[in-house]
Amino acid sequence: MSQIQLYDTLTRSLRELPRPLEGKSFGMYLCGPTVYGPAHIGNFRTMLTLDVLYRSLKALGYPVKFVRNITDVDDKTIRGSRASGQSLEAFTGEWTRKFHEDCSALNMLSPDVEPRATTHIREQVQLAESLLAKGHAYVGGDGSVYFRVNSFSAYGQLSHFDREALRTQETNSAGALNLSDEYERDSVADFALWKAYKPEDGDVCWEGPKDPATGKAIRGRPGWHLECSAKSHTHLGQEFDLHAGGEDLIFPHHENEIAQSCCGYGGSFARHWMHVVHLLV
Ligand SMILES: [Zn+2]
Repeated sequence: MSQIQLYDTLTRSLRELPRPLEGKSFGMYLCGPTVYGPAHIGNFRTMLTLDVLYRSLKALGYPVKFVRNITDVDDKTIRGSRASGQSLEAFTGEWTRKFHEDCSALNMLSPDVEPRATTHIREQVQLAESLLAKGHAYVGGDGSVYFRVNSFSAYGQLSHFDREALRTQETNSAGALNLSDEYERDSVADFALWKAYKPEDGDVCWEGPKDPATGKAIRGRPGWHLECSAKSHTHLGQEFDLHAGGEDLIFPHHENEIAQSCCGYGGSFARHWMHVVHLLV
């Protein structure tokens, strides 16, 4: 197999792509679209870059498994479906079809697996429960489940996020920061794994992780970050070769994925991080 070198965001260096683990395909995961409207050329630039890499790896003889997810539940999809008077499923289904039409027009290959967030609720609930059981998560004042960033010492490794600066800022200027929606959390950096049901969610909700204090399932929906950890684990396993996305996902999305996966499943996660920079027009 030929060698490919790519810039790795984690080590900030040009590195040879990892060889697939013994007996496994080269596992690559790309954070795909949120289906609430038309994808733009910046989205497609990232996806086309990964399409070129996928084709190149195949042409060079790598056995590859390419997973690109679809985010079909979040604030934007719920808002859009309610505004259009459609069910969430009908609304996101329509935008997924339009996305696939655009992919075909660009002659992109289909990924091997295209998992949706709403078809992986069970895996996301299990991951949230595992994080609660291990003390990496807690139920906040609003009933949502939050990841405790201070419980993961490696947090910030990908983005070089300055945890000390954040702590100082939190202590010194809590009043000056706009923390109106942050009071439910122990720390401003903590992020939602599972969002407790709100009336604005309409009929979009599932039985979620069990609250350790009451033993009752928390009704609601997954936070955005949780789905990629659960789906990459389901389709590529605990450790896989390449994780990619637009550069805007480095922080907080990918930083949060690392924290969830490493703490919830244990051990390592993606072996190489590839980010596509913004398209400037
Ligand atoms: Zn993602």
